[in-house]
Amino acid sequence: MVDKIKKNYEEILNDIKEICGENNNIKVVCASKYTDGEGLINLINAGVLTIGENRVQAMKEKKEFLDEKKLSNKLSWHYIGTLQKNKIKYIIDYIDLIQSVHEYSLLEELNKKALQNNRVINVLLEVNISGEESKHGFKKEDLLSFSGQLFFSNLNIIGLMTMAPNTEEDSIIRNTFRGLRELKDELNHKIFKGTLTELSMGMSNDYKIALEEGATIIRIGSKLFN
Ligand SMILES: *Cc1c(COP(=O)(O)O)cnc(C)c1O
Repeated sequence: MVDKIKKNYEEILNDIKEICGENNNIKVVCASKYTDGEGLINLINAGVLTIGENRVQAMKEKKEFLDEKKLSNKLSWHYIGTLQKNKIKYIIDYIDLIQSVHEYSLLEELNKKALQNNRVINVLLEVNISGEESKHGFKKEDLLSFSGQLFFSNLNIIGLMTMAPNTEEDSIIRNTFRGLRELKDELNHKIFKGTLTELSMGMSNDYKIALEEGATIIRIGSKLFN
């Protein structure tokens, strides 16, 4: 299992080098919903540095498992799923990046909890670029209508995240990713003065397109495990 993951991981790193050059800062986040605590040890041994979990309960179990083995500090822990406010307390003291902040009231609650825990938390804003009803996230127009309300004492908003629409049509996927990059530029100009640096976009089937459109973080699941 480790060998297979390692081979897949290296293939992805090679694609990154080909598209973004040798000296790049691209972060590969392994979507860990496909595996358990034991599986995370395989990921660590394959060289994976960062994982992203979709569910708080699953993350809590995996974190406790690795804590017991004194291995949890081998990984950077990202949250990539829908976060409910009443579950923030289970991840607030160790989470390294929350990629999927999808509404304003969640920012307020996260700031409150971060303050109580004496932490400054890095977050990305999840944007619904494609405008599909079924998708979570801020609408582009809503984000552009904010200004000072996006500054919090204990949150660093460092970029944007999106999920591409479910389609085989490359041009639609590319337009979504390009739209996220343009929105980042616009928000940097209008509100953030350049402090938005991260674009989390691209998964197993479309990470190459995402890299071509400026992704700094790609979230890979199935391609690592299959
Ligand atoms: C599962 C998941 C991924 C990875 O998906 P794959 O297509 O398996 O690479 C990325 N982002 C999120 C939010 C996910 O839930």
